[in-house]
Amino acid sequence: MSTQPQTATSRRALDALIDWLIAEDEAETEATGGCPACDTQHDEMCVACGSCRCDTHERCVRPTQEA
Ligand SMILES: [Zn+2]
Ligand SMILES: [Zn+2]
Repeated sequence: MSTQPQTATSRRALDALIDWLIAEDEAETEATGGCPACDTQHDEMCVACGSCRCDTHERCVRPTQEA
């Protein structure tokens, strides 16, 4: 077994790709009216008050969501 110096480079490239994919995903989430901070898509927003998961929904009587 020989150590391949390529491994570190590939890993770094993969990390960069993942970072890019996450950034793209967040940008799309925000562009479509969602919240990238809590990864809530626009159609996943609270049905009662329209807030994302960042909010505490203190004044919201949202139905309990159980899966
Ligand atoms: Zn709510
Ligand atoms: Zn949020």
